[in-house]
Amino acid sequence: MTDLWNEALQGLQPRLGQETYDLWLRPLTVAAVEGQTIRLRAPSLFMKEWFENHYMEAVLDEIEARTDSRYVLDLEVDPNANELQSGHTADRSAATADRGAQTNADSRTPSTPSTFATPAPPTAHIEVRKVAPPPVGLSERYRFDSFISGASNELAASAARAAADQPGTRFNPLLIYGGVGLGKTHLLHAVGHSLYESDPTRRITYLSAERFMNEFISAVRYNQFDQFRRKYREDCDVLLIDDIQFIAGRDRTMDEFFHVFNALYEAGKQIMVTSDRTPSDMQSMEDRITSRLNWGLVADIKSPDLETRVAILRQKAENDRIAIADDVCVYLAGQVQSNVRELEGALVRVATFADLKGVPITTGFIREVIGETTKERRRTPVTVEAVQKAVASHFSVRIADLKGPRRHKGISRPRMIAMFLARELTGSSFPEIGLRFGGKDHSTVINACKRITALSDEDPELRSAVNQLREHLSSL
Ligand code: ADP
Ligand code: MG
Repeated sequence: MTDLWNEALQGLQPRLGQETYDLWLRPLTVAAVEGQTIRLRAPSLFMKEWFENHYMEAVLDEIEARTDSRYVLDLEVDPNANELQSGHTADRSAATADRGAQTNADSRTPSTPSTFATPAPPTAHIEVRKVAPPPVGLSERYRFDSFISGASNELAASAARAAADQPGTRFNPLLIYGGVGLGKTHLLHAVGHSLYESDPTRRITYLSAERFMNEFISAVRYNQFDQFRRKYREDCDVLLIDDIQFIAGRDRTMDEFFHVFNALYEAGKQIMVTSDRTPSDMQSMEDRITSRLNWGLVADIKSPDLETRVAILRQKAENDRIAIADDVCVYLAGQVQSNVRELEGALVRVATFADLKGVPITTGFIREVIGETTKERRRTPVTVEAVQKAVASHFSVRIADLKGPRRHKGISRPRMIAMFLARELTGSSFPEIGLRFGGKDHSTVINACKRITALSDEDPELRSAVNQLREHLSSL
């Protein structure tokens, strides 16, 4: 019988995702089976209720699909568990007073089920239903206090702080847009942490637009639309969606997002999204969505200036215990200007090499490490035209099509690959590559690069095509 339970859970796992499975299903144990009733033990009342409200139906369906009969799941809280929320008193003032302790205990370990079984401090009296689960998916590193403000990101950072201080008011919705690696995701997570910490009863939902789409599709497919709707329209006080531009052109997902937006907005819930472009530049995004995204505040992030880059490097060096002198920091910040992610990457690379060689980080050493890649590039000057030619011949498409507007997959895939390789191999900027592909916007190129990076992870055929082309082009 326990086997049936395990099998059912295994069957559900791909649909629910590893995280949900580990967090909410795996901690349950089978206590007994009596006829058609399976008695389960949950480590806490909170987990019992969460399971009942969110996953019970799916598990029952799964069991039914396997046995052809309808079981009943009867959950009890494990009597041996030390409940964090054992006191059931609904004393609001005590709840408020205890929030500090609660926050520290929970938010530091967002997806660890054992959090809920942590022994309670003797004074903790928090009403169970009021405390929301810690937001899932937020990186511990991305907080306001680790975000360095400068002229390039000041507006975005203060808007994010304001939204975190007064959610659901003037800064609702908040849209932060800007190029790759400039701190959009960082701010989104920071808002999530801050809102949860200032009030752990807030139900905070954070996810990428891509994940939103996938969940929506599987909800429709597996007849779990009610659950989806509840999760996003009702059981949510703050919705944080990363890279919203992803849903542009995906009609049903846009439609669903529109309804989610309306439901939350009308209920005064805070919505924050990031994007790599302004709402008006989101081609094929429905007007009714872009107009709503413009209702609140739209703030941009630009590439950081030298001072900000230096400050970011200093912070990173300190966190990672990298010894680097101030003037060397300034030199490195001068070398890598495009975005923060590359800047941090360069520091880590230099530090790793220095460590391996057992030498200190000096400007000369940086020149050696970073200069080498530049030299290598010079030896093999790949042009955008050469990339286009190679890609066109590999996929048997015309160069004119790569530069043209057609969106057919047979054309758009090779086009994205060509843009991706052009970026990687020629050192040309995004706008420059856009120009050479028939005058496309730089954001199209950015998007193509992101797509190919993501697709390479999932699609071995695509990965091998990209590798072959890269090798071929580098050997020219
Ligand atoms: P985006 O979402 O805009 O592509 P991210 O938020 O992922 O960029 O940022 C890339 C990296 O740069 C992250 O490690 C982030 O912490 C760091 N970063 C970006 N801007 C800042 C900043 N102003 N201060 C500190 N770190 C930053
Ligand atoms: Mg991001």
